[in-house]
Amino acid sequence: MIDWTPIKNAIRDAKQIVLLPHIYADGDALGSAGALALFLQDQGKQVTIAVEEAVQDKLSFLTSKANLHFALPEEVVPGADLAIAVDVSDYARLGSRKPLFDQARVQARIDHHGVSGDFATITVCNPEWAATAEGIYGLLCEMDASWTVPIAICVYTGLVTDTGCFAYSNVRPETLRVAAAMLEVARDLSWIYRETFENKTKSCIALTAAAYGKTEYEDAGRIAYLRLEAKDYADAGATDEDSEGFSAMLRAIQGVHVSIFVRDGRENGQYRISLRSDEACDVAKVAGEFGGGGHARAAGITYISDKGETFTQFKTRLITRLKECMEA
Ligand code: 5GP
Ligand code: MN
Repeated sequence: MIDWTPIKNAIRDAKQIVLLPHIYADGDALGSAGALALFLQDQGKQVTIAVEEAVQDKLSFLTSKANLHFALPEEVVPGADLAIAVDVSDYARLGSRKPLFDQARVQARIDHHGVSGDFATITVCNPEWAATAEGIYGLLCEMDASWTVPIAICVYTGLVTDTGCFAYSNVRPETLRVAAAMLEVARDLSWIYRETFENKTKSCIALTAAAYGKTEYEDAGRIAYLRLEAKDYADAGATDEDSEGFSAMLRAIQGVHVSIFVRDGRENGQYRISLRSDEACDVAKVAGEFGGGGHARAAGITYISDKGETFTQFKTRLITRLKECMEA
């Protein structure tokens, strides 16, 4: 049983509330924050969703169809009564918005990551939720929310994106019950699948072709490794958003149990590494050893090349640990 009391009390006592999804916000982070914002606004609260970067094109329907505004950090003044980190596993994943979190009177976090840091005063984190949106649904039920189509759109977006359209092993009967409840409210939500998983840009297709061409195999084909550099994106006319599904795409190759997808981080010498696996390996555990985190089947690491280690040396270290993990 989840104890919602501390966060319900914090909400009751707050007038101004800031919601903080994780950096590089995905459908779950934005959908969860969106559903919570719509509910809190309905309760008469002043709510701001502060995002790190502009919302991805494919999620822009959250603005047009769910009437949400996602504020960039410079638009937001610190000092809210309550800050809630949403789908944020780690303090570092607040990015440049740490002051918005730290300078609030109360700090809370609602999340579903298994390997995560404890950085808030009030934490509600349940790794059994397929998406943080599943938890937000629970909170809204607890608080007797009036269900609306925009809230249903937000919750469903979180579920669809974090479960690969209800395909991954994180889906529980309860996940489908929440989806069913949202479908009862909104009637038609199939367009969310089209917006988020289909609807691929031509530049995404060009980058996909390059990605398949550059995929390497390790450990007798059990590990797929892909490194895309700025030049690959430039050649395809692609953006970061265009490569969002690539880690899952690599895992889908026959015989592959673990996929590693590497792209440049925001700063020089920084790398963003996405890991995906099947039941052969708990990649959240391995990511945790390298300072990252996430879920058993989908995790990530932000690596900064330092202490004299080259990226190639790091890559060897990571692949060795993943192989050991699969053998264990
Ligand atoms: P993705 O590969 O889609 O970026 O992330 C997959 C999962 O790993 C997400 O749940 C995300 O929160 C987590 N993750 C990705 N990158 C990092 C990271 O640098 N640090 C931590 N702690 N988790 C990460
Ligand atoms: Mn999530």
